[in-house]
Amino acid sequence: MTEPLANYLGGRWQQGSGAGVPLLDPVLGNELVRVDASGLDLAAGFAFAREQGGAALRAMTYRQRAALLAAIAECLQGHRDSYYEIALANSGTVKRDSATDIDGAIYTLGVYARLGDTLGDRRHLPDGEAQRLAKDPSFQSQHVLVPNRGVVLCINAFNFPSWGLWEKAAPALLSGVPVIAKPATATAWLAQRMVQDVVEAGILPAGALSVVCGSADGMLDALQPFDAVSFTGSAHTAALIRSHPAVTQRSVRVNIEADSINAALLMPGEAADGEAARLLVSEVVREMTAKSGQKCTAIRRVFVPGSLYAPIAEALRARLAAVTVGNPRNDTVRMGALVSRAQVDSVRDGLAQLSTVTETLHDGDSHALIDADRKRSCCVGPTLLGTRDADASALLHDTEVFGPVATLMAYRDDGADGGLSNALALVRRGQGSLVASLYGEDAGRLADAAVELADSHGRVHVVSPDVGDTHTGHGNVMPQSLHGGPGRAGGGEELGGLRALQFHHRRCAVQASGTVLARL
Ligand code: NAP
Repeated sequence: MTEPLANYLGGRWQQGSGAGVPLLDPVLGNELVRVDASGLDLAAGFAFAREQGGAALRAMTYRQRAALLAAIAECLQGHRDSYYEIALANSGTVKRDSATDIDGAIYTLGVYARLGDTLGDRRHLPDGEAQRLAKDPSFQSQHVLVPNRGVVLCINAFNFPSWGLWEKAAPALLSGVPVIAKPATATAWLAQRMVQDVVEAGILPAGALSVVCGSADGMLDALQPFDAVSFTGSAHTAALIRSHPAVTQRSVRVNIEADSINAALLMPGEAADGEAARLLVSEVVREMTAKSGQKCTAIRRVFVPGSLYAPIAEALRARLAAVTVGNPRNDTVRMGALVSRAQVDSVRDGLAQLSTVTETLHDGDSHALIDADRKRSCCVGPTLLGTRDADASALLHDTEVFGPVATLMAYRDDGADGGLSNALALVRRGQGSLVASLYGEDAGRLADAAVELADSHGRVHVVSPDVGDTHTGHGNVMPQSLHGGPGRAGGGEELGGLRALQFHHRRCAVQASGTVLARL
């Protein structure tokens, strides 16, 4: 049995005291490595990060910290091949899907390095203009943003071990806040290896970046009032975090990125063989199959005018049937595995539930697996469900199947507005989502619909034929745009360029004479 991967905490590598949990190859089934965090002195490790790491980071300017991010990106770039090998083995992903995770992380670090450089040689940020508090300008109020004097505990989901780590760590480190990364156990290897490479390269001050691989037990207990938690994962775990005394009693700041039943909508009036419909079909297929549908932003519900239900179903069926599924080591395979047996079971459960209120338009089990054993591997073909009665059941709008599954639904297109109000109401039944995408040719109607959906979505992705070749994809999270969503999606906000820094800063109003304020 291999020794579990070491954790980096308190400025040193530390082994857990247990035998560890095995991480498996989801295609071949063999054990790869083990992780274990039991017995670690979390309180001491968090205190080291808070005191040593925080002080060292805050002593730097934004520009200096931006340079650290650039150095991390360069370091990761240098080890890129080994990350692809780990992703292939531990996540069972084809190269293109591994790239979203690995190159997406490097790109995000690069964007924050450039953005941080624009903040210059300062150690805190002004927030708005000074406002008079007295009749004359002698006494004024100026808001400032200063870095949090605590750690941020970054808890991540299994699907993006690399991007999930760095999209959280980059804004935090740029802000001057030390990061304690807690990757999801199933795929922790990649995150652990990346931290190891960055530590060995000696880029960051001691305590600025730690990684704890294994159970989250006790981690929230170690948080103190000025710390924060940035969480990505299921709504169930999010609820546990929200109700933890660290949050309810010690006011630890929390950002939650949870699950979401994202929608794609073909606007009324489009033709079945038109460009907008073609773009929708290709995006739905891409979203169902990229990372085997294990993306929080993936399209789960597809709304089309009732009169186009049959031809769109046919177009999707034809494209999905051509998707090759199996061992990502085989170059002909387009879609690799789900991450674990538990995920396979969860997808099968979700499918069984949705099947009670839908018809199966394309059955994932019809796919022959390439170089993969149906019993041993976690490979699952893409399944398209469908219903002409999208109002029929709440299940359709509530059930997240975290795999290669989507449901095609018809909206009533016989009303005065071509059914748009019905379609938008159906999209909103997701109760708040990370992203919705709209497909159409009428710029005015698309803009109106985007604003209509803005209150219940973190991002609205509009695809018209003029951006057919340039749009970045419904499910791709770009660091320039907000990631997060209201309601069911968790209510969190990440990325969005420099907006991400807000979470890692405290706002304070300094009330003083203009002379003092000028010296801030
Ligand atoms: P999960 O089971 O909720 O786990 C997420 C993370 O929380 C893991 O690191 C897990 O550690 C940790 N965790 C488990 N119990 C905890 C506790 N009591 N306190 C603190 N942390 C705890 O989610 P998952 O299965 O990894 O990911 C799939 C879900 O994440 C899906 O629902 C998906 O929609 C959602 N997701 C959302 C986003 C987004 O940005 N909105 C992105 C990706 C995924 P262990 O692994 O050690 O249990």
